[in-house]
Amino acid sequence: MKKKDVLTVKNLSKIYSKNNSEPVNALNNLNLDVKQGEIFGLLGPNGAGKSTFINILGGTVIKSKGNVNVWGYDLDKDPRQVRASLGIVPQEVNLDPFFNPRRLLELHAGMYGIKKKDRITDEILKLVSLENNADSYARSLSGGMKRRLLIAKALVHKPPILILDEPTAGVDVELRRNLWENVKLLNKIGVTIILTTHYLIEAEEMCDRIGILSKGDLVALDTTKNLINKIQTKNVTFIINEKTKIANIPLKSLKILSQEDNRITLSYEKNSLKIDEIISYFSDKNINILDITTDDANIEDVYTSLIKN
Ligand code: ADP
Ligand code: MG
Repeated sequence: MKKKDVLTVKNLSKIYSKNNSEPVNALNNLNLDVKQGEIFGLLGPNGAGKSTFINILGGTVIKSKGNVNVWGYDLDKDPRQVRASLGIVPQEVNLDPFFNPRRLLELHAGMYGIKKKDRITDEILKLVSLENNADSYARSLSGGMKRRLLIAKALVHKPPILILDEPTAGVDVELRRNLWENVKLLNKIGVTIILTTHYLIEAEEMCDRIGILSKGDLVALDTTKNLINKIQTKNVTFIINEKTKIANIPLKSLKILSQEDNRITLSYEKNSLKIDEIISYFSDKNINILDITTDDANIEDVYTSLIKN
């Protein structure tokens, strides 16, 4: 069954113009869609336009051009319905230090007009692993806990789509893991996730599909798997029984990167050469292979090559 699109963006542009400064093209003709139930990652360096995109969805930035549809609602015609379908966790942590998590969530639910009996405060606190801190002042919470409280706040109206803008910026490694576990859990119970990050490894680990933004342009949009497959160059290291220097291996696209004692590292292009051909070459020369390790490409390589061009 084909998955339903829960967000479609057509030709979306944003130009920030202030009277006495140069206009900034923050988004240029952005086209993308997000499917129900997926974790979609928007990647890009600082200034790429990630927050602009999210703030347009959240209604704090007004688009210059284009169409946005969220959960079947058009942003221009039904902005309230769009907002009701989204839970947005902003990049900046803005919490009143004198509220505790339970009180904050209750107040927020009140703002959405959710009746006391329909509130799911305890359930949400559990979802973000804050049930034991429900009554502590926000100012006494750790950085990671504050982030999770912001997620909780975005969930009070049970939105089907949760958007996180750089949720792990400034959060240490262990808390980051913990935060991702919470996000994965939410996804498992059916929440579609859209996140932005510049931690590439995380995007690779978390996301089903990835869009890469560079200076307001979407330079890639594909499944994480396909993006990684686009990288053609592979590195491979052989441990051989031979200590003599191998000067040249006459195979298409093959380069010798280094050789130290019996360890030789090569690179080759996946579409020109198969690893079997390298192995056959060694066996034809009576060189025994004791071990092979390959070094697969990751999103970082895709990202670097796309952003550079
Ligand atoms: P990211 O979140 O990817 O770091 P942003 O969306 O914050 O990127 O910024 C994209 C571009 O728009 C940057 O060049 C930034 O300086 C500019 N920008 C962002 N907000 C404003 C604003 N309120 N006024 C003018 N320019 C802005
Ligand atoms: Mg940002």
